[in-house]
Amino acid sequence: MSTPLQVFDQAHIWHPYSSPTPALPPYEVTAAKGVILDLADGRQLIDGMSSWWSVIHGYQHPDINAAMCAQIERFAHVMFGGLTHEPAVRLSQRLLSIVPSSLAHVFYCDSGSVAVEVAMKMALQYQHARGETQRRQCATILGGYHGDTWHPMSVCDPQTGMHHLYHDRLMTQHFLPRPRSRFDDAQCCDEDKNALNDFFVAHGERIAAFILEPIVQGAGGMWFYHPDYLRHLATCCKAYGVLLVADEIATGFGRTGQWFAVNHADITPDIMCLGKALTGGYISFAATLCTTEVAHTIASGDPGVLMHGPTFMANPLACATADASLQLLQQGTWQAQVQTIAAHFNDTLLPLRTRDYIADVRVLGAIGVIELHDAVNMAHIVPRLVAAGIWVRPFGRLVYLMPPFVISAAQLTDLTDALIGVLDGLYA
Ligand SMILES: *Cc1c(COP(=O)(O)O)cnc(C)c1O
Repeated sequence: MSTPLQVFDQAHIWHPYSSPTPALPPYEVTAAKGVILDLADGRQLIDGMSSWWSVIHGYQHPDINAAMCAQIERFAHVMFGGLTHEPAVRLSQRLLSIVPSSLAHVFYCDSGSVAVEVAMKMALQYQHARGETQRRQCATILGGYHGDTWHPMSVCDPQTGMHHLYHDRLMTQHFLPRPRSRFDDAQCCDEDKNALNDFFVAHGERIAAFILEPIVQGAGGMWFYHPDYLRHLATCCKAYGVLLVADEIATGFGRTGQWFAVNHADITPDIMCLGKALTGGYISFAATLCTTEVAHTIASGDPGVLMHGPTFMANPLACATADASLQLLQQGTWQAQVQTIAAHFNDTLLPLRTRDYIADVRVLGAIGVIELHDAVNMAHIVPRLVAAGIWVRPFGRLVYLMPPFVISAAQLTDLTDALIGVLDGLYA
């Protein structure tokens, strides 16, 4: 039985990647606290998704709630053109103290996709300012995801990004094969490195930037590749004057077991995009960071300014929220929490590799991925997951878990037990 809210929603409101006239109504959430989502029908679900990578400290964390309320009592927003405020400065100081040290300039915007737009603009403008006007294209690897607005879409995986729909309208970019060396392989294979070498020899002089998700490819296929690939790429970029853009929107803030995924390879990107968990999942916010070299080169070129300035740039409420989330991370308990989640996934998920219906299982940090041989039928699997008391949203052949870091040992066990029960019930 649908609630009145569900009926109206189904008739009038778009949801992510969905039909405007969907067959099934969405579930109605009435409250969320810790790692538990309350549904209108009284059911309680353990959240296995962190609301798409973002709610790392759980719902309604008292410190973040308090920081938001305090900022609302001061001011929720002022324009950022010609004005500044303590929340923006404090957050920037804290951010710059945790990201790779060569990053020194911060651009705030509303969402991850816009942060990627800004990164691509920065890269093109940087090359233009250096007189490298032939560098007009970007390069990336297959299987990536960088957002849904126009330029980010052009560097998403062409198949999952639906490039055929927008044929001739998207900017043409260069795609390299997805690195095949797994994160935990002994080393990065020659094939992966040679693909980079060959590409840079052929195209290195015409590329403005190489953009990719470091180590973990998220929404494009949940694939974890070898840190040496990233190291080799960083070397190639440097040799050919190509900027390296790390899209850490999904991987940033501890999810992979390091503060940032680039830390696994000990590299420094020229530009880095942050979003998702930046505010602990409270409110939409993102940032694009760059080196002094990039910022000062843009300043010295024509027109000398970056032509981008969202209405809600550096929104004080979002800055205060992000600062509270970062303070929690700086207390350091996330590291043990992520390790506990990783150990639990290793114990419970990796043995599933022997199941006939399962093609692969991968675990890194607080991310557990089960890849099936065939795509799931969402209408079949989602109601069963909800009936089993968990919120998990598979896509295609991928069923994956990335719970809030604060999940308890008992809740973790319930989450994986319920998931394995549903999968075995459907496919074993
Ligand atoms: C989610 C995501 C984006 C887009 O962020 P939005 O806030 O949804 O616009 C970009 N890049 C990566 C790697 C992401 O995971």
